[in-house]
Amino acid sequence: MAPEPTGTVPFHKASVRDADVADKRVLVREDLNVPLEDGAITDDTRIRAALPTIELLRERKAKVVVVAHLGRPKGRDPELSLAPVAERLGELLGTEVKLAPGVVGDEVEAMASGLEPGEVMLLENSRFEEGETKNDAALAKQLAGLADLFVNDAFGASHRAHVTTEGVAHELPAYAGLLMERELVELTAVRERPEPPLIVILGGAKVTDKIGVIERFLETADEILIGGAMAFSFFKAEGRDTGESLVEEEGGEKAREALKSAEGGDCLLELPEDLVIGREFAADTERQELNGVDVPEGWMGLDIGSNTAADYAKRIARAGTVFWNGPMGAFEMAPFAQGTRTVAEAVAAAPGRTVVGGGDSAAALVEFGLDDEVDWLSTGGGASLEFMEGKELPGVEVLPDA
Ligand code: ADP
Ligand code: MG
Repeated sequence: MAPEPTGTVPFHKASVRDADVADKRVLVREDLNVPLEDGAITDDTRIRAALPTIELLRERKAKVVVVAHLGRPKGRDPELSLAPVAERLGELLGTEVKLAPGVVGDEVEAMASGLEPGEVMLLENSRFEEGETKNDAALAKQLAGLADLFVNDAFGASHRAHVTTEGVAHELPAYAGLLMERELVELTAVRERPEPPLIVILGGAKVTDKIGVIERFLETADEILIGGAMAFSFFKAEGRDTGESLVEEEGGEKAREALKSAEGGDCLLELPEDLVIGREFAADTERQELNGVDVPEGWMGLDIGSNTAADYAKRIARAGTVFWNGPMGAFEMAPFAQGTRTVAEAVAAAPGRTVVGGGDSAAALVEFGLDDEVDWLSTGGGASLEFMEGKELPGVEVLPDA
């Protein structure tokens, strides 16, 4: 067989596209874990991302039972009801989405049985059931009783082996949803067959979460560009002054290991050459541009400097493939947003294939109005990182091959 061209990968899993769903009840796992403030949804990106699969099922006359989780409730918690999500989903679909009173039980079963083809109902927060996160087999069977087939579209939740991502897939004919498919195809292309050169930009605050990705990309990428608070773990590991900068305790050791693996390798690991520093983590704090990276006592690094940003932008423009995860600074505060903005603009303008993962990186793109300018904006923060590291995602592994 001829090798696949770089930049593309085939999809091997059973897909909802090929499922026979007419008049059947289809349980669809979606990632609808949206941010809420005082009961109102502040960002409906994840609900929008779920629409293509639900719309496909409605067009094909399925009876759609959506299941999802919200936050981390301990048992039933009215503050974490999916009611606002049902309402928003209904608005976006242009049809009523009835919210079930629970996840399973007689009333829920009656509602599911009463569905007409094309109708959509949403089960209550799956984590109201204690068995959900324990991947309880009895709960999986009960849930499976609500439907004839199962579609997992929740890529962003599939790094967890829970009932709604993994357990229930053993109980019903299971398929990948359209979002799941796109996420897997886009991320696999970056992981396995990137069009060279592959430039990876890593930033943000969670170094320990992301260090596994660095180790992996040191083997496959041409350049890794580091920014955000992550840079200070590296600077600390190099014995530099980091002042009051945010340094993750565990990060230092990991950064040292990454620096060591980078030595003598083919991948260039780039650290900032200049910084923007502030007195405190606040928008109105005293601000200074630092020509260098040794942060004085009483100051903290809050953004990459303009030389670094310009250098990163130049490298991004030459990329065949770009993968970006994590902002370059505390971009939520205007005085410290410029580094992230410059990098975001470079990614948006890059002729290569551009894939962005991470909730805050996505939020930055949205804030700059550039979210439509990248090739793929992954909705799966933790899941996309684990996938990039090469870990198997239980909710994906369990889906049968086509
Ligand atoms: P993502 O959600 O894209 O994966 P993270 O959650 O790892 O990214 O990190 C995002 C957060 O990192 C942002 O809220 C941002 O303010 C913060 N951050 C970035 N750079 C710095 C810095 N130098 N000091 C403190 N916080 C930072
Ligand atoms: Mg984040």
